[in-house]
Parts: sequence; C-alpha cells; structure tokens
Amino acid sequence: MRLVDTHCHLDLEAFDEDRAQVLARARASGVERILVVGFAPERWESALRLAQSEPDVAVAVGLHPTEAARYNDEVEAGIREAAMSPSVCAIGEIGLDYHWMTAPAEVQRRAFLRQIALAREMDLPFIVHQRDAAEDTLDALQEAGPPHRGVMHCFTGDLTYAERCLAMGMYLGIGGAVTFRKATDLHEVVRSVPLDRLVLETDAPYMTPSPHRGKRNEPSYLRFIVERVAELRDTSVEEVAEATTANAARLFNLDIDGRAA
Ligand SMILES: [Zn+2]
Ligand SMILES: [Zn+2]
Repeated sequence: MRLVDTHCHLDLEAFDEDRAQVLARARASGVERILVVGFAPERWESALRLAQSEPDVAVAVGLHPTEAARYNDEVEAGIREAAMSPSVCAIGEIGLDYHWMTAPAEVQRRAFLRQIALAREMDLPFIVHQRDAAEDTLDALQEAGPPHRGVMHCFTGDLTYAERCLAMGMYLGIGGAVTFRKATDLHEVVRSVPLDRLVLETDAPYMTPSPHRGKRNEPSYLRFIVERVAELRDTSVEEVAEATTANAARLFNLDIDGRAA
C-alpha cells in the first residue's frame, strides 16, 4: 500500500524528540510522501531544512490566515523566493480563519487572494485552510476566478458545500475527522464524491484520528483514515490508497516511484 500524507506539520517542536522514529513508522505503514506545510516565515525554513535531509518530504510555503496581519510585499517576496526551492510543490496553507479572527476579515481576504495569484504566477497548486468561514472562502475563490488547482484541506463541510468546491476544480483533503462517529455530513461526502477528487492528510500533530484521539497525531496514522474512507465507500483499502496517491501525485506534481503526474 502506498499513501501520501498531503498535509502535516512534521517540522514543529512536537516532533523534535522523535522525528526519526515518526518518519520510520510512516514509511513502515506505506506513507511514501509527506507534504510538510510551512505556514509562516519561520516555518518555511524548518520545512525546507527537513526536506533537505528527507527525500520523501515535500514542502508547501505560504502565510496562514491566522498570520494574515503580517502579510506585506516583503513577506510575499519571501514566499516567492522559498517557493523556488525544488522541494516546494504548493502554496499554503492560505485561506480564512474566523474562529481565531487574529486579523480582520478583509485583511485575511487580501492575503488569501494575493497568495492565490502568486500560486498561479508560479504554476503551483494551493492549499486552503478555512475555519468558520465557509461562505466567504467560496466567495474569495469565486473572485479569484475558477477553475482552480488546489485542495480544501481538512474538509468538514456537507455534500452541497463539497459539490460547490469540486465545481471550482478543488480537491477535498480528508483527514482525522472522517474517523469520528458524529461526522455524518463528512461521511456522506466521502461516500458520494468522485474518488478521483479526494486526497488524504493527517494534519499532524493536530486532528488525531480515532482510536488515538487526545494524543499527538503522526503521519503513520494515515492508515486509520484510509481504512475509514474505504469502509464508507464499500471498497478496498488498496483501491483508495492507489487512487488517492495518484490524485496527490497529479495535484502536487509529485514523482512517486518514477510515476510522474
Ligand atoms: Zn489548517
Ligand atoms: Zn495545517
């Protein structure tokens, strides 16, 4: 089984004690690529450093919506420069976060739209983070001009919302929430949408799937997610693994086993 963890934060201090073991467990459970998302200038460096020593690590660089107050020309130039690195395969995570609301909605929207434009300019896909901002996120994506090449990471919406995202060309990033018993809207989405538009992610160290809720998440736990997706779709784990790996390779232009997108 070959899997791609399309979203995690393996560069954070949460993994400083045992990062080598975490990577070894990921590889042993079939995770062939790990996309480490650097969400602020300090994190672009740590993510790129990790990719230098670990060939199966790919990187995304961007400014997270909770950091949007920092967005300016200098930060944008920093993203552009970091994104020149051959290990960078996406701009992200970018979007709107009205849960923390650390910057006014308009400031977040401007940073979001400018980074979508940057992704286009650099011919890279982008990774969207939205929290409590579902409608405004779609509105910004609409303004930016679909079709898009990107992913709604940590997707938790209902089927109607999913279909609106898909119509704009977006992929859906399915993570730990799919293992939660009460996530019935998400279960319906995973059952119903075309398999060729799903990618898998852990968002480690956050969003820990069942049965490890409450503990630190890690990329090897991707297997709980692929198992639940297969169960919901009434198909084999192998089929879901194969399809989502091909999807991730296509979306992020990853070369997996010489099988380029
Ligand atoms: Zn996020
Ligand atoms: Zn994240």
